[in-house]
Amino acid sequence: MILAIDIGGSQFGLALATPDGRIIKHIQHQTDRTDHADKRIDRILAASKTLISQSSVLACGIGFGGPVNFDTQRIVNSTHVPGWDDCPLPEIVEQHLGLPAIIDNDANVGALGEYTFGAGKNSRHIIYYTVSTGIGGGIIINGEIYRGGNGYAGELGHVPILRDGPQCDCGNRGCLEALCSGTAIGRRATAAIQKHPRKGIAITRAANNTPITAKTLFDTARSGDPYARALVDEICTDLGQGLAMAVNAFAPDVIVIGGGVSNAGRILFEPLRRETSQFLMPIHRPNLRIVPAKLKNRSVILGAVALAKQRIQH
Ligand SMILES: [Zn+2]
Repeated sequence: MILAIDIGGSQFGLALATPDGRIIKHIQHQTDRTDHADKRIDRILAASKTLISQSSVLACGIGFGGPVNFDTQRIVNSTHVPGWDDCPLPEIVEQHLGLPAIIDNDANVGALGEYTFGAGKNSRHIIYYTVSTGIGGGIIINGEIYRGGNGYAGELGHVPILRDGPQCDCGNRGCLEALCSGTAIGRRATAAIQKHPRKGIAITRAANNTPITAKTLFDTARSGDPYARALVDEICTDLGQGLAMAVNAFAPDVIVIGGGVSNAGRILFEPLRRETSQFLMPIHRPNLRIVPAKLKNRSVILGAVALAKQRIQH
């Protein structure tokens, strides 16, 4: 068995799985965003101990929602939660649970999950995007995560799309994440409707006095509302620019899109394929494949299983 851990901003998930990716048990815990890392680690270790108590577990794989130095196996920091700076989490897990452990950032781990068990299963080169609160990316070349010279490659959400565009968390302006993350889509739809309240009436109704989210926009577009569709097209043009950059640069066999926004389905993927295609060099157009993540909210957990397998083999 493998113990897989997925640590996000406001929750963590634990799973017990077989090395071939069959999940035996999967539990999710909500955590307080203000909780210090020490408190969270205690909770993760306690829950892990209970989960693995009845099984023979070989290794632990961890996906973390923030930058990780893979070479030193330390978390760099977390922009969401205090106390993670320079944290050697795998070492702590090894000490407390007696298991060899390995960690990487959750976008890389999600990419590995889709590559090993999901939508990238029969491909050699995949590019993975997770579009939710932010936009994360993972690049797999010849079956291996591409990490670059300093170990932090794959930040596909921070490709500049719009000069002088909205402020991004990374410090730049107009990044793909600042324009097309789930958060950014909700914000853009809200701003568009404030500007054109009459055109946006169907979206406002769908929101029903709650804040307008990406889901509100996609649901309204799916019902056929022309203004919602126009806004989705606009978002797909921006997202397509980011994807086209990756395709022109890497010519992947497939682009896999996960994260909450990918649940929108065809209403997102059809315009996205069209818009991406128009930015591509003609030689890349015939091979363009953009597909939703197959493992849905289990990409990271199953990627952690694949990562743990690497730890055992090395
Ligand atoms: Zn950025």
